[in-house]
Amino acid sequence: MGTRRPSTYPGHLPPLIDARVSFGYRAPMTAASALARAFVDNHVRPNLASWDAAATYPREVVAASGLTGLFVAPDKGGLGLSYGEAVDVFEELGRGDGSLAFSMSMHNAVAAAVNGAATGVLLERWGGALASGQALGCFSITEPQSGTDATALRTRATERDGSWTITGRKAWVSLGGVADVYAVVAKTSDEPGHSDVAMFIVEGADPGVTFSAPYRKAASDFLPITDMELTEANAFLLVPPGSGMSAALAAIDVARFDIAAISVGLLAEALDVATRYACQRVTFGKPIIEHQGLAWMLADVATDVEAGRHLTRAAAEAIGMPEGRVAIAHAKRFAPDAAVRGTAACSEVLGAYGWLHDHPIARMAAVATMLTVVDGTAEVQRIVIARDLQRRASK
Ligand SMILES: Cc1cc2nc3c(=O)[nH]c(=O)nc-3n(C[C@H](O)[C@H](O)[C@H](O)COP(=O)(O)OP(=O)(O)OC[C@H]3O[C@@H](n4cnc5c(N)ncnc54)[C@H](O)[C@@H]3O)c2cc1C
Repeated sequence: MGTRRPSTYPGHLPPLIDARVSFGYRAPMTAASALARAFVDNHVRPNLASWDAAATYPREVVAASGLTGLFVAPDKGGLGLSYGEAVDVFEELGRGDGSLAFSMSMHNAVAAAVNGAATGVLLERWGGALASGQALGCFSITEPQSGTDATALRTRATERDGSWTITGRKAWVSLGGVADVYAVVAKTSDEPGHSDVAMFIVEGADPGVTFSAPYRKAASDFLPITDMELTEANAFLLVPPGSGMSAALAAIDVARFDIAAISVGLLAEALDVATRYACQRVTFGKPIIEHQGLAWMLADVATDVEAGRHLTRAAAEAIGMPEGRVAIAHAKRFAPDAAVRGTAACSEVLGAYGWLHDHPIARMAAVATMLTVVDGTAEVQRIVIARDLQRRASK
């Protein structure tokens, strides 16, 4: 990918200082969300452009963030956060960069799964390392032929003398080649359906694991995404056959509310940048925020930030309850879509400057689109919501 030309952000425009002007309901700052804010201010904002230019994932910076064991119990080296406490952490991370935040969400899911379900050698080798960030984790369910329809997966695990190996091909492996451990969802028989699915941990350094070159993407060159070829790769069983698909879906539910919170943070940041610009840019003798048409666009974005925040908080509180999955679907459907709409509006507020490659709004708009897809598309969330409507109506 090589290095990029120097920034083209014009010197005659206001500097892109983080203004944090988006108001509204916020929970009081917790130690964890303060840590996330400091991580973003001190490490993400100043370095994001250089990580992108070098196409290098900042693994040491992430390891030192103190945010790699969010859901791991304190006696295992984590922060032991509730989902409600994690909402603000992911919103802060989303303000820094949605793609980096997504990778940290995925790592945290794997760190929680290994520390929650593993025993013996697996727990010993990777539990503490994942919680501390010394090792990075990736969650791998998608295959070339199966994305939304995860039950169409073909990757096959085989048990011989009490040991498992896996053969198959995974696609869209975020942190492919960079992560140390991969939570791999695989079938354990040739029977159709998913009643035989299990979840395994595969080590990236295993001789049976190879990665393709990173995909070229619309944004976030620092985040490698690859295919992963598994050829009789050695695997640790994490969740037994029969429970693998439901465990994967439960992990994805948590990731969905992370993504909703990240989307809220991304949109709040875009609103800050656009509002600051609109207060300073003058046309026809007044700041553009005093032109009603433009002011209303910003007002609509502010409403979306508030609405996304409330939906995400409600979802976090409902996880594990019967209504949890639908509450998560509402937040995951709404917040990334709002981020796509809102970053387009914020770009419009910036006029021509919103189109500059080096302007953060262009990056945010590209990342917002990505957030609508990862961990279940907006259409899938609508399916979950509609099925719930049907169930309620037929009671
Ligand atoms: C940046 C990025 C990182 C990712 N990282 C990972 C990762 O680390 N690990 C991992 O396992 N996966 C990862 N993914 C994959 C992601 O989870 C899938 O892309 C996602 O599940 C959608 O699958 P698909 O792209 O195959 O789309 P498809 O399933 O082919 O769907 C195509 C379109 O059809 C729609 N559609 C499908 N079925 C229906 C239906 N029944 N009704 C209505 N509409 C429907 C979808 O919403 C979508 O719009 C990543 C994806 C991206 C973009």
